[in-house]
Amino acid sequence: MEVQETKILRCYDCGNETRQILVNHHISSILYDENRTNGKREKFNNSFHYLSYECSTCSGLNIIGGFENEIEFEVDNFKRLFPVGPNLRIPDHHLLAKTQPVPDEIIKIYEEIWFLRKQVPNAFANQIRKCLEMICNDNGAKGNTLNDKLKDLKNMGLLPGTNEELVKVIREVGNLGSHDSGRDLDIWDVELLDEFFKTVVDYIYVIPMKMKRLNQRLSSK
Ligand SMILES: [Zn+2]
Repeated sequence: MEVQETKILRCYDCGNETRQILVNHHISSILYDENRTNGKREKFNNSFHYLSYECSTCSGLNIIGGFENEIEFEVDNFKRLFPVGPNLRIPDHHLLAKTQPVPDEIIKIYEEIWFLRKQVPNAFANQIRKCLEMICNDNGAKGNTLNDKLKDLKNMGLLPGTNEELVKVIREVGNLGSHDSGRDLDIWDVELLDEFFKTVVDYIYVIPMKMKRLNQRLSSK
């Protein structure tokens, strides 16, 4: 595998898409697959590449890589190992159908805005609020404001947590970054919104799909 000494990459620390310098390339032979032939189990290892690139803007590290046969630099097909980044997609081998459980439009908005969460927290908050609203609508939640819709989602039992916790979080999230809140968001507000959003996505889309997948595995045993 040919590895480039420099690469244009989005930095997951500062958010810039910039030239990055390869500072370390480590290869490990780790477990890749297991086959059963004639009642005998056989494990297979495969080379896993860890490529550390240093951002020329902020000097943060971005570690990318993957199994040798799965990395395709030309089409930017590699795993983000650190920082993990805006990941709402489930690995293909965990999927039941060919489609991701999270609606495409939400994945798209989230992947676009996530890098900018520290630079433009207010814009990030607006997009996250938009995504939350889409999730509410997708699940038939009623109300005129995001707050009301989230409350309706809670009443339908579609949000995790106790009633008391949820009432507080919904009030906070509903106000963060809304036009009438009248204040600028800081990085901790952004973190709160991001965590809440990912929790909702997990609870509504990801976990039910994973449970179905587990059941499918159990019934095929
Ligand atoms: Zn950077």
